[in-house]
Amino acid sequence: MPTLTAAGTTTLESINPATGDVVGEVPVATPEEVVAAVARARAAWPAWRALGAAKRAEAVAPLGAKLLDRADELGMLLTREMGKPLAEGVGEVTECGSTLDATLREIVEAMEPDRIDDETVISTIHHDPFGVCAVITPWNFPLAMPHWGIIPALVAGNSVVIKPSEETPLIAQAYVDLLNESLPAGVLQIVHGADEPGKALVQADIDLIAFTGSRDAGRHILAAASGGLKRVILELGGKDPLIVLDDADIAAAAKFAVKNSFRNAGQVCVSTERIYVDEKIADRFEAEVITLTAAQKVGEGTEEGVTVGPMINARQRDHVLAQIDDAIEHGATVIAGGTGHHDGFIMPTVLSGVTHDMDIMRTETFGPVACIARFRDLDEVVALANDTPYGLGATVFGGDVEKTAEVARRLDAGMIGINKSCGGAAGTPWVGAKQSGYGYHSGKDGHRQFTQSRVLSMPK
Ligand code: NAD
Repeated sequence: MPTLTAAGTTTLESINPATGDVVGEVPVATPEEVVAAVARARAAWPAWRALGAAKRAEAVAPLGAKLLDRADELGMLLTREMGKPLAEGVGEVTECGSTLDATLREIVEAMEPDRIDDETVISTIHHDPFGVCAVITPWNFPLAMPHWGIIPALVAGNSVVIKPSEETPLIAQAYVDLLNESLPAGVLQIVHGADEPGKALVQADIDLIAFTGSRDAGRHILAAASGGLKRVILELGGKDPLIVLDDADIAAAAKFAVKNSFRNAGQVCVSTERIYVDEKIADRFEAEVITLTAAQKVGEGTEEGVTVGPMINARQRDHVLAQIDDAIEHGATVIAGGTGHHDGFIMPTVLSGVTHDMDIMRTETFGPVACIARFRDLDEVVALANDTPYGLGATVFGGDVEKTAEVARRLDAGMIGINKSCGGAAGTPWVGAKQSGYGYHSGKDGHRQFTQSRVLSMPK
């Protein structure tokens, strides 16, 4: 909650969602401070752009080793600020650190101009930076989300002003401080606060907005950016389906369902939010899911063996509990969990017999709930899986790879996993279809979204 200090500065307290303790505080940026940060970024931009992609990557590169050296300390801060199990907090830091070199190589390569010639003209397509990029991020991966916005924006040659989530300002500040140790002044700045500084940043003199967050905020940002025809990249929410076909490895599918429904207490954009299982194997699948759910351990992320941490805040907890209650009222059956929720924690819950009349099958839940529906035929399940405005990820489990891939190809999502999570091989984009994405990042094409194409042509 923002509070006013005696000196007249508004500060934002970062609260540990598991204990309610204050982890630290940051000053909230006023609209004038946001405008001033953007002006500094604008002033720093020409020299940064002139360096070229390879030199910019060199300036960013020291971050990788620093993240790895300080992974335990940063992972602990991350867990105290947002609640996820410590191993996952540390893992988030090490993942960003250990992949940085490869990512930088990939971005530098993506910045190489393309050459096309026909019988009369030779053209070179250059990939030039836009100018100042606003990066606005959520709290659920509070180090990785800033990382995946800032790194391509910077190496593509933009200067950056980031506004991280008001729930997790400290880990974002620590990340920016580390990166700034090797960057020229003004190239990367951070402003704190909730949506007000975010709105001020969108209105300021920026050229590109790289936003990750909810569909509602994304819609608002798209509208706000339209006046100045500012470029936007929006990575939004999801309502990912998991389809389990009758010849699937039931144990493997159940293991995936439980892991991907409860990871980070379900607060993942590509969480499994809807499960459709062929009625011929549904009893066996549900029995496996119940057994695996019983093995989950709920608690503070720093406790040994905890797999499910707290909800980020009371609003998110109340939203999830209201969806569970609504589903039960409309005929769903609780087959695991469903009781024992306390303080900021929701017990991993499995609902059977859910239908699309229930809010929990239509609106993003972002909580530790596995919702199981049964289907009879493939046309029916494809229609159900696509019956949503979202289209981020999806997964299909099946034994016959060709038949499974055919079902996967009919799903209207950006990233579809076959017998695995939706994440692709290194170098593939992170992309949402329908209202889950408007532009995307990662992979050659994703890196190029942080640039403007310019075509130079001459006679052959
Ligand atoms: P949110 O949209 O409430 O907030 C995200 C960020 O935007 C925060 O920094 C917030 O302060 C800021 N903000 C909110 N309204 C704004 C406005 N009108 N103008 C400018 N800034 C504004 O989302 P959240 O609760 O932090 O995160 C959860 C959401 O993020 C979920 O919907 C989740 O699916 C989504 N998400 C998507 C991806 C992806 O890759 N597609 C990844 C992670 C999270």
